[in-house]
Amino acid sequence: MSKINWNFKNTYFNLPESFKEDVNPVPVKNPDLVVLNESLASELNLDFSKIDKKELSKIFSGNVLPNGSNSIAQAYAGHQFGHFTMLGDGRAVLIGEHTTRANKKYDIQFKGSGKTAFSRNGDGRAALGPMLREYIISEAMSALNIPTTRSLAVVKTGENIQREKILQGAILTRVASSHIRVGTFQYIAARQKEDELQTLLDYTIDRHYPEIKNSNNKALDLLNLIIERQCNLVVNWMRVGFVHGVMNTDNMSISGETIDYGPCAFMDSYDPKTVFSSIDQMGRYAYCNQPVITKWNLARFAECLIPFIDKDKDRAIEIATETINTFEKIYEEKWINMMRNKLGLIGLDDKDKSLILDLLTWMHKKKVDYTNTFCHLMDQGPKKEKVFENNDFLDWRIRWKKRLLKNNNSSDKYINLMKNNNPMVIPRNHKVEEALIAAEDGDFNPLIKILGILEKPYLKQKGINDYQQTSPLGEEYKTFCGT
Ligand code: AMP
Ligand code: MG
Repeated sequence: MSKINWNFKNTYFNLPESFKEDVNPVPVKNPDLVVLNESLASELNLDFSKIDKKELSKIFSGNVLPNGSNSIAQAYAGHQFGHFTMLGDGRAVLIGEHTTRANKKYDIQFKGSGKTAFSRNGDGRAALGPMLREYIISEAMSALNIPTTRSLAVVKTGENIQREKILQGAILTRVASSHIRVGTFQYIAARQKEDELQTLLDYTIDRHYPEIKNSNNKALDLLNLIIERQCNLVVNWMRVGFVHGVMNTDNMSISGETIDYGPCAFMDSYDPKTVFSSIDQMGRYAYCNQPVITKWNLARFAECLIPFIDKDKDRAIEIATETINTFEKIYEEKWINMMRNKLGLIGLDDKDKSLILDLLTWMHKKKVDYTNTFCHLMDQGPKKEKVFENNDFLDWRIRWKKRLLKNNNSSDKYINLMKNNNPMVIPRNHKVEEALIAAEDGDFNPLIKILGILEKPYLKQKGINDYQQTSPLGEEYKTFCGT
């Protein structure tokens, strides 16, 4: 197995007992590799090319653990739809931290790997459809240049699992710069042992934010850095119309990566209230609420840090509140700049905000496809659409063209700006479903095809018209948490 180049340097394993359970993946009956991400493997300096499929199936099911791995389930808590619960890896294990030649660390986690101490009433398993869905969408997000966990492989376990109906079991190999969540801090904070919280704080800074290692107020600096990262992340989601769907605090990563692709989906026609998750009846995690919830989650994170922000508790709360309240300003500025990029606007103009909002309002009113509107503005729309002959739109377009003149720059520059910020293709709900349904039937061709197309979302690709159309599934499309 030395040919693969695993290089495990496991640090979370060495943290106190309360942080995790030492547990191996539960072996599966008949593992069968479905997909392996060779380009990610090579980014990680891993080489699976000399390993046959049978062996790969054993590796990615956890039936055989690589040398140097120390398998653990991580403890965490979380606010789920606003309610605090003790959680933890109930169907996942972290087999170790692989370290690349550039000395970058990546958690290698098996999701769907069997019961752990945190499984509560669950079976510890995952189904093929949701694991492939996570694979498709996380890889699409990475190609869209959005921070995210990655997907290295999916195997079928050869075992059935019982959900509403019987489904094929599967295991996803998830790669993350770590799996430390807001919920990890909440779990340790709830134990009320300051030394443990100090350990987690120091560990997190050491792993993700070493630049503040020697600062005077590490906790406050960490909070500021994470506000910045999370703002960047959610602005990117808004840029491409991504609706995460289950922004519980346990699904918010301290590294600022998108994590946990359960009920997420991409918005078709522009509607700020877009929700896909079947369990999100109140729209808590609707498209337009994502920044609000990000701030709410960050406030829960700040609460965990209170003991370290100031010795005087009241003063610490005051400082934390002030810090959290910087969110709106930071977000607003990042959001407007992101929208400027989508419209190719260089420099600042007083009327930019109204120009942007007027386009969004028009899109909402006319139920126009979000992605394809920007493609249309780049003269790259997948088809001629009557809606763009609408007078209100044409008036808006004149205003936009006038504003472009103020760019004071070559048109190449604004066109490139637009091309780098507006995807030509996103994971359309009907095409994702089509690939998953075929895969469940043993036909992996549509899966391979969609993965290939989504690798290059900003390029004009031939023959992908079908993948650029507004999903006929429409707003009625419902997603599930994938348990
Ligand atoms: P998620 O919805 O994937 O964010 O999961 C929320 C919590 O439920 C986490 O603690 C998971 O580990 C746990 N969980 C989800 N599905 C299962 C399952 N099938 N068996 C055990 N635990 C699960
Ligand atoms: Mg989760």
